[in-house]
Amino acid sequence: MRIGFGWDSHEFKPGVKLMIGGVHLEHDRGLAGHSDGDVLLHAITDALLGAIAAGDIGSYFPPSDPKWKGADSAIFLAEAMKQVEQAGYQIVNIDSTLVLSAPKIVPHAKRIQQRIGKLLNIGADCIGVKAKTPEGVGTENAAIAHVVVLLEKHEEHKQLQTMAAVLDSQKHLEEVVRDLVNEVHEEHSQRKVANTEDIT
Ligand code: MG
Repeated sequence: MRIGFGWDSHEFKPGVKLMIGGVHLEHDRGLAGHSDGDVLLHAITDALLGAIAAGDIGSYFPPSDPKWKGADSAIFLAEAMKQVEQAGYQIVNIDSTLVLSAPKIVPHAKRIQQRIGKLLNIGADCIGVKAKTPEGVGTENAAIAHVVVLLEKHEEHKQLQTMAAVLDSQKHLEEVVRDLVNEVHEEHSQRKVANTEDIT
């Protein structure tokens, strides 16, 4: 089992499309960023990479690279998922809390869960999406995302580990049998020598 944590924030700007969790939400402002500014997908990406100690979103997609300008953040998430799979893990569940003054997230939570589930190939019921308003923290002009993920060894890896354990115990059994046979052989030849000595 591995746990990962991700955090991200983006500033609201007028004239930008609001993307949260891979879903376009109708609002008068969107989140500014080098990519599409999807604060939730960025935090999930970091949580996944963090869980396998494989760096962060910036080490794969540097903001200095013009290639990622306006990029769909699903690309970042797909790369993190590829890294997780290569490391031999699969997602158990994800939980998240968004902190933003508007729009209300609850009416869109199901759609966001389903979209993230589709992107990560897991059930929507494995993705928690919650939201709070920023009471007294002075971040009214920003959206913040906190994310935790839990990973477990991939099923195939588990099966391979079991097979390796069986092979190991078989090998051990073979060694025990070989030692026994050798002992019997040795005893037998010692007896033979003793018998020959008796005759002479
Ligand atoms: Mg970001």
